[in-house]
Amino acid sequence: MNEEAASTPLGRWIAGMPKAELHIHLEGSLQPATAIELARRHDLVHTLPTTDPARLADWFDFTDFADFIRVIRAIQNLIRTSDDFALVAYQAGAAMAEQNIRYSELTVSPYNHTHIFDKGPTIGAILAGLDEGRRSAKADFGVEMRWVFDIARNFCFSGPDRVYDPHPAETTLRYALEGQEHGVVALGIGGNEEGRPPEPFAHAFQEARRHGLGSVPHAGESLAPWAAGHVRGSIETLGADRIGHGIGAITDPHLLALLLDRAIPLEVCPTSNLRTRVCERLALHPFPHLDRMGLTVTLNSDDPPLFGNTLNDEYRLLATGFGYGPADLARIARNAFTAALCEPSLRRSLLEEFDAWTRTHGMEASPEG
Ligand SMILES: [Zn+2]
Repeated sequence: MNEEAASTPLGRWIAGMPKAELHIHLEGSLQPATAIELARRHDLVHTLPTTDPARLADWFDFTDFADFIRVIRAIQNLIRTSDDFALVAYQAGAAMAEQNIRYSELTVSPYNHTHIFDKGPTIGAILAGLDEGRRSAKADFGVEMRWVFDIARNFCFSGPDRVYDPHPAETTLRYALEGQEHGVVALGIGGNEEGRPPEPFAHAFQEARRHGLGSVPHAGESLAPWAAGHVRGSIETLGADRIGHGIGAITDPHLLALLLDRAIPLEVCPTSNLRTRVCERLALHPFPHLDRMGLTVTLNSDDPPLFGNTLNDEYRLLATGFGYGPADLARIARNAFTAALCEPSLRRSLLEEFDAWTRTHGMEASPEG
């Protein structure tokens, strides 16, 4: 976090504002010191380039999206037991409390743990750990956490012809349905999208929706020409309730009209897009265009320790990069509460808390706030 920026009146106002975050990966929120602790616990120190937490940050300077995926897989591989999941979930809750994030939907990729890595836990162990972590975080910090179970699309297509294998998606669906009693609110898809379109996942998402889960696929996490087609496919065949990222929609006016017409929120993560190099520089980022055309745009940190950001940093970025003032920042923050997939009674009470705060603290940054 940029300490100097955080200490300005606007920085303090942002820090004090109650926030919700809808796009953050549990495995991607692992702090470097915890990554090293888990690596020692499981005799996996050799999978990390260093055991110095400060120097581990250098490993997180990604050359491209594929490089980012390689690092996140190595991080996921460190989380192996129920206790590990409980620890990581609890620490994510502590990080929420530090920033006054009242509610988060955290993405977890359970199939990677049960099927891809050696000595992975069972789904029962994962759910027990997640439950334990979020219960302790709620008791100690008062934060509310829900889970999105995510299909890693990299494991769903094989060979040079990219033949679709339904096993990861159907297994993740089964896990998500089992997890509904444990705070799982939606099914998602993540990973590298290029050459891996959303349409083959239609069955898993149809079933998820039929059982009351939300549909929140990553789509259009790129500004490449194919990206808009993935956003459209996610709406038309996966019944997306929200789109993870979705910035690729910017190239297609008809698609933007569809998003607007159906009021489908976007989970936008500007720093993530810069760090994975899908967007060259902030001035080229479509955030303000998507927002000003009336879309429900939410602001998110994605994988904070990996990208060296916090959610508060993202709000400050809107202020410094795009000239957003407190009224705009509060409007964006409110979008995340309205787009939450938790039970309506919780969403209502979170919104009441948020609205009470903005009434008290006004739309102007209070220097003492
Ligand atoms: Zn993501």
